[in-house]
Amino acid sequence: MIIVMRSGATAQQVAAVVRRVESMGFRAHLSEGEERTIIGVIGDERPIDPGIFELMEGVERTVPILRPFKLASRDFHPQDSVFSINGVTIGGKKLCIMAGPCAVESRQQILEVAHAVKEAGAHVLRGGAFKPRTSPYSFQGLGLRGLELLAEAREETGLPVVTEVMAPEAVSMVARYADILQIGTRNMQNFALLQAVGQVNKPVLLKRGMMSTIEELLMAAEYILANGNSRVILCERGIRTFEKYTRNTLDINAIPAIKQLTHLPVIADPSQGTGKWDLVVPVSRACIAAGADGLIIEVHPNPEEALSDQAQQIRPEVFAKLMEDLRALAGPLGREL
Ligand code: PEP
Ligand code: MN
Repeated sequence: MIIVMRSGATAQQVAAVVRRVESMGFRAHLSEGEERTIIGVIGDERPIDPGIFELMEGVERTVPILRPFKLASRDFHPQDSVFSINGVTIGGKKLCIMAGPCAVESRQQILEVAHAVKEAGAHVLRGGAFKPRTSPYSFQGLGLRGLELLAEAREETGLPVVTEVMAPEAVSMVARYADILQIGTRNMQNFALLQAVGQVNKPVLLKRGMMSTIEELLMAAEYILANGNSRVILCERGIRTFEKYTRNTLDINAIPAIKQLTHLPVIADPSQGTGKWDLVVPVSRACIAAGADGLIIEVHPNPEEALSDQAQQIRPEVFAKLMEDLRALAGPLGREL
């Protein structure tokens, strides 16, 4: 942190700030200019509240130098994190494509999609068993039965499965079936849930809150990392803006920005990000071009009969075509699929 003194701050005021810095176990580095004095606080200042100094006489402002997240930060871990989930690599050069229905609806539906996305080249099967719905009267998911069906689909196809967990009490049950635990946008700052998934030996797919900043997303990841789980995948899934034509505004800027700030893999969700099936393919290509390490895509055998997110789920044929496009894109971008 840098403490900028007001022009005209007295020597006593500067000395008082230096004493305060030193009393907290840090070193103070003084830089006396023509106009004003600047005090550098040397040491890991993250736990300090800058307000402590801003209240002191003669202080104009403080400027943080270290980022508030540590374990998630590239300063702490410069190389990309790469990890393997049942033989599937996430992070690094290889793209990881997750696909499947918004919700698991029946045995027939999940097995049909699982085979179709596997055939097209997907690496992970998605499907919600516990669905966070805006209305309590909407389909809430099949719950435990949905998890059993996902496990059956994994058995048949060999694809690892990702599914959402909505409550801390449900983490151990969902972790018995899922290969990756998904934290949805509505729970990005459910700190009890973040702590609970931090204590489990399963990778976590953490979705950006629909009204959260990039820094808040990284602070949420920090909760999981600080609780001992180093396998966190971040997901840009669109944020709320004034635009109503699309369901959300997929923040393409966030993809390279998050990758600059963190070593964790970053994927994108163009299905929730657009809310419109016919925008999913072009936006998927854009996300990969922007540097995403993978995608999570909603695929349904019969979208018009889906029990949730009808408008944004793509048919298996459209998904197969998307995979072809991505294969063509990967090479020129220095990626592999
Ligand atoms: C989903 O993946 O189906 C979902 C509900 O995602 P989000 O939390 O991003 O809305
Ligand atoms: Mn959905």
